[in-house]
Amino acid sequence: MELPFAESWRIKMVEPIRKSTREEREKWLEEAHNNVFQLKAEQVYIDLLTDSGTGAMSDRQWAAMMVGDESYGGSKSFFKMKDMIKKLTGFEYVIPTHQGRAAENVLFSYLVKAGDIIPGNSHFDTTKGHIESRKAVALDCTVDEAKDTQLEVPFKGNVCPKKLEKALSEHKDKIPFIIVTITNNTAGGQPVSMENLRQVKEIADKYNKPVLFDSARFAENAYFIKVREKGYENKTIKEIVKEMYSYADGMTMSAKKDAIVNMGGFIATNKAEWYEGAKTFCIPFEGYLTYGGMNGRDMEALAVGLDENTEFDNLETRIKQVEYLGKKLDEYGIPYQRPAGGHAIFVDADKILTCVPKEEFPAQTLTCELYLEAGIRGCEIGYLLADRDPVTRQNRFTGLDFVRLAIPRRVYTNNHMDVIAAALKNVYDRREQITRGVEITWEAELMRHFTVQLKRLGK
Ligand SMILES: *Cc1c(COP(=O)(O)O)cnc(C)c1O
Repeated sequence: MELPFAESWRIKMVEPIRKSTREEREKWLEEAHNNVFQLKAEQVYIDLLTDSGTGAMSDRQWAAMMVGDESYGGSKSFFKMKDMIKKLTGFEYVIPTHQGRAAENVLFSYLVKAGDIIPGNSHFDTTKGHIESRKAVALDCTVDEAKDTQLEVPFKGNVCPKKLEKALSEHKDKIPFIIVTITNNTAGGQPVSMENLRQVKEIADKYNKPVLFDSARFAENAYFIKVREKGYENKTIKEIVKEMYSYADGMTMSAKKDAIVNMGGFIATNKAEWYEGAKTFCIPFEGYLTYGGMNGRDMEALAVGLDENTEFDNLETRIKQVEYLGKKLDEYGIPYQRPAGGHAIFVDADKILTCVPKEEFPAQTLTCELYLEAGIRGCEIGYLLADRDPVTRQNRFTGLDFVRLAIPRRVYTNNHMDVIAAALKNVYDRREQITRGVEITWEAELMRHFTVQLKRLGK
């Protein structure tokens, strides 16, 4: 018989995790103001809050850490990292930063001015935050298909070329660059096709605008291009990555995702002008140019992580696990953003908690229910995360309302996936009894979901 699929690694080190009782969880969630970010990690059994910085490093990465060069200036580890980034992307200039949002902060301090408009495909929350805090506008030009969670199309993360053209023709002078997020996290970890990257570049060239890739999950995006896009089936992931970046002028990177390190990020570009501009902000915000907030050993691990995670086997193991969880939810009829994304399953809370009004945040309510059910910590990617409109200060209910189950890389087994699916099924089976949601009692002006305090209604 044909052998079943299995992981392309084996486990060398383990960390115990602990279950809790429903009574304990009721108490802990209350103490955390019904915001799972504020739970203690030890109060969580299976932690799907994020896939960011939560991956398991490989033996090669740990070994590389031992040879980290901690020199303040000109560290050998910086050059190893820079060479790997250049080999993969072709970018000449590299600025290290302590994580992805720091890369945004440094580069946008140079590029974004009040009144600017930055078109792109569903800007990530910190990206949007760094644009809006500079009194500029993040203009979403994602394809409309992304809004229909039940539609099965291969590249739901794409930029809509028509929306992008319209933005450029109407606001040309206010647009400093175009941003493409690969994969499109906010739309459900959905990939962007090579054809779309090429199209965006053509449109950008027509208006003489640079293109920036928000690259946290570029390797997962390359995997989807290989398995879904005609003409790429026989190319290696590294060849695909190289072609992807031939359509960009620069990138910001959260290395906590596809470089499988616990902390780290960078800016890379071929534009000398961006490099010179960003440099002056790196030093006061992040540190000197050859470490930018990272230890030498972390840059070593980052270089190895980039190399390993642009190999097919590693990506296949990861993405098949996410698909495995998706198939379990299919068995139970639980709706999520289809097809399964690269790093997470985005459960469609609006379609499940149909008795909870939008104003009471269905996805946040479902996040609480899943935690109470089994100690599983997901994350709301919905109306809370959407923040208020900067002008009207009204809640934004126009997008999607998801509970994201982000799967850390190389951390959990498929047995854990079975537990997650079963817990969600139990909540799903009693969905009609859940009629009240949550109410905000305290919130920050921007990026409120991290610190928001909530009250559970009707309880
Ligand atoms: C995580 C992420 C960021 C921000 O990176 P941090 O390392 O968390 O600061 C930016 N964009 C995307 C698409 C991300 O997923």
